[in-house]
Amino acid sequence: MTAKKHSVGEHLRDQGVSRRAFLKFCTASASLMALPPGLIPAMAAALEQARRPSVIWLSFQECTGCTESLTRSHAPTVEDLILEMISLDYHHTLQAAAGEAAEAAREQAMKDNFGNYLLIVDGSLPGPDANPGYSTIAGVSNYAMLMEAVEGAAAVIAVGTCAAFGGLPEAAPNPTGAVAVMDLIKDKPLVNVSGCPPVPMVISGVLAHYLAFGRLPELDEYHRPLAFFGQSIHDRCYRRPFYDKGLFAETFDDEGARAGWCLYRLGCKGPSTYNACATMRWNAGTSWPIEAGHPCLGCSEPRFWDAGSFYAPLSVPTDLSSTQVLTAGAAGALVGGTVATLARRTVETAAASRQPVTADELEQTL
Ligand code: SF4
Repeated sequence: MTAKKHSVGEHLRDQGVSRRAFLKFCTASASLMALPPGLIPAMAAALEQARRPSVIWLSFQECTGCTESLTRSHAPTVEDLILEMISLDYHHTLQAAAGEAAEAAREQAMKDNFGNYLLIVDGSLPGPDANPGYSTIAGVSNYAMLMEAVEGAAAVIAVGTCAAFGGLPEAAPNPTGAVAVMDLIKDKPLVNVSGCPPVPMVISGVLAHYLAFGRLPELDEYHRPLAFFGQSIHDRCYRRPFYDKGLFAETFDDEGARAGWCLYRLGCKGPSTYNACATMRWNAGTSWPIEAGHPCLGCSEPRFWDAGSFYAPLSVPTDLSSTQVLTAGAAGALVGGTVATLARRTVETAAASRQPVTADELEQTL
């Protein structure tokens, strides 16, 4: 099972994907990444000609929620399309092969595509000083497998908060000595798509950007793609007018909650959390936690499990961990004036000047 040598465009046609669906995907992806409309035709042409990259997906200490996030969507979606654009040569959950055949497929894909494959990791892993037996695949420790696989990778995508920041396995007392992928990989291009689980469109968007432009998108201080993590949940929340007016739900079943008021006093971490939930939403764009009446838990920020205090307002001091999270993540929203804030404003300005481009218009352009 190695990478097919024909282009993305040829493969999509073979799979019966219409040109119109492809152009819609290009328009949606470019829009999500806040690319200028003028770049969309170039992006479509580049994607069509691109060779399908080999992807090796390693799952370590994780719950499979990240894979579920990417695959459990309503067809046809961009998430389905992106899976057609890659050659997924190794993935525990999705591959047909098992046992020795599966491991042989991984070894073969790494050999055939050395230097060119994408390595996707979900889950944290016991670090080099931990007992290697805490987490193994086919008798190989997670650490050894990661180090072997990263050698021939062109780039690494850490999917989900466990891979990006350690997540639940790394939370105190961290019995397995779990670390994040970026704690171990320093010499490869690396992007973190954090979230528990991550927003599927963000995974798709990063892959589309890599395929179209041959490089990872611009990143924030935590290696997250700025186009998706450049603004806080709070900045994009539809309940923000209630926050600005000081109208807060005090309990989950009071008049304020029923009227859709701001959830800040119920522990919402939206002001200190950077992610795209408010714009991408979940379940084919149906809803997202805050719309369902639940405060944001801040799952895409470092150390969110240890910060805890899920239902305590941000204004209530908790412990050092939460202070660290607030300082790093909330600087733009609450303090202002940081370099990160300036970078975010740049992205916001780019996004603000964006004009919508329809698939019909794009079809005429190409
Ligand atoms: S505190 Fe939470 S619910 Fe309130 S406006 Fe901000 S993100 Fe929305």
